[in-house]
Amino acid sequence: MPGFELFGDLERKEVNDVLDNGVLMRYGFDGMRKGHWKAKALETELQNTFKTNHVQLVSSGTAAVSVALASAGVGAGDEVIMPTFTFVASFEAIMMLGAIPVLVDIDDTLTLDPKAVEGAITEKTKAVMIVQMCGSMGNMNALQNICKTHNLLFVEDACQAIGGTYEGKPLGSIADLGCFSFDFVKTITCGEGGAVITNNPDYYRNADHYSDHGHDHIGSDRGAETHPFLGYNFRISELHAAVGLAQVKRLPEFIAIQKKNYSILRDAISNVPGVTFRRVPEEGEESYAFLNFFLPDLETARKVSATFKDNGIDACWNYFDNNWHYVRKWNHLKDAKSLYPLSSEMKIVLSQLQTKDFSQSDHFIGRNISCLIKLSWTEDEVKERAQLMAKLINEVFQ
Ligand SMILES: *Cc1c(COP(=O)(O)O)cnc(C)c1O
Repeated sequence: MPGFELFGDLERKEVNDVLDNGVLMRYGFDGMRKGHWKAKALETELQNTFKTNHVQLVSSGTAAVSVALASAGVGAGDEVIMPTFTFVASFEAIMMLGAIPVLVDIDDTLTLDPKAVEGAITEKTKAVMIVQMCGSMGNMNALQNICKTHNLLFVEDACQAIGGTYEGKPLGSIADLGCFSFDFVKTITCGEGGAVITNNPDYYRNADHYSDHGHDHIGSDRGAETHPFLGYNFRISELHAAVGLAQVKRLPEFIAIQKKNYSILRDAISNVPGVTFRRVPEEGEESYAFLNFFLPDLETARKVSATFKDNGIDACWNYFDNNWHYVRKWNHLKDAKSLYPLSSEMKIVLSQLQTKDFSQSDHFIGRNISCLIKLSWTEDEVKERAQLMAKLINEVFQ
């Protein structure tokens, strides 16, 4: 991660195909496009990658979460349970539908604690959305069982987890609906883009219509199509899809590089007493997009984070003090800062974030360091980095 580190001839060729005929839109213009349907081709490619029946490309990962929930009928006043450690986009995407995001604690997997999920279910709960942060997952079987027992929709925000698996199945393909992002910093990038995947034909049809103003996509005359229901524009363009098409073919290569670099770093710091690692469920294999480790306490984690920064170890974060990935500093949301009026229900939920007890999440996020695994490092660079990381952590402990 990120895929842009390795752009090359493949990406250029796919984009040139689109520019040669000039059709930048994914729908219509059949006569002009000389057989090039990049968005359709990428959807087929992703169907194979994720071993799923249906893929709907959209304009971003944020759109993917909104479209996925909308496709299953989640809307105004419905509660969606999600973890405190996330990207703020997952929270926004729920709000965009007028639905209520309900944050619950994480455990040592750095995502949903099944006990916290069970404790947060009310009669308004419609869905549980796991956010598979930094390439790894929680106890998917336990979460799926909770959803079955309480008749809830189960959704995966797998935007950071492309290439990871659980019981051999690709992350994103396990729940009722899975969401991906191909924004500029993700493992597979097309600039801006996203995807919703599902095996449910109704959700797929709804996602297809909803992401294009409710168009039914029947027949070949776009102007004559009818609109069975309300929709918006969350379309991807052919140019973006073209880049994605080249990148997705390289996914196995990217994951192999991530795994190799991750392993070198992990081996080096695993010898440092006091360092432990994020728990990856036995049934799963992470995508190796990030190396996540724990230190004994917040103070040590802050010191390690600072010394990494001072010594040129970039792209490592302690998310406790981060504005975007952890609820603690979401001040604009806690204060319900919005350009337009929010429902009174939403305002209450947002203001409750100011005082809600997330000490269990603080315990894990406070001690965590999360290091991005780059694709472009040479072997010497990774080895040097690994040694320096181990040395710096040891120095903090002395
Ligand atoms: C990147 C990301 C998103 C949003 O994706 P965009 O394409 O940037 O809108 C949502 N959730 C998670 C976990 C992400 O990392």
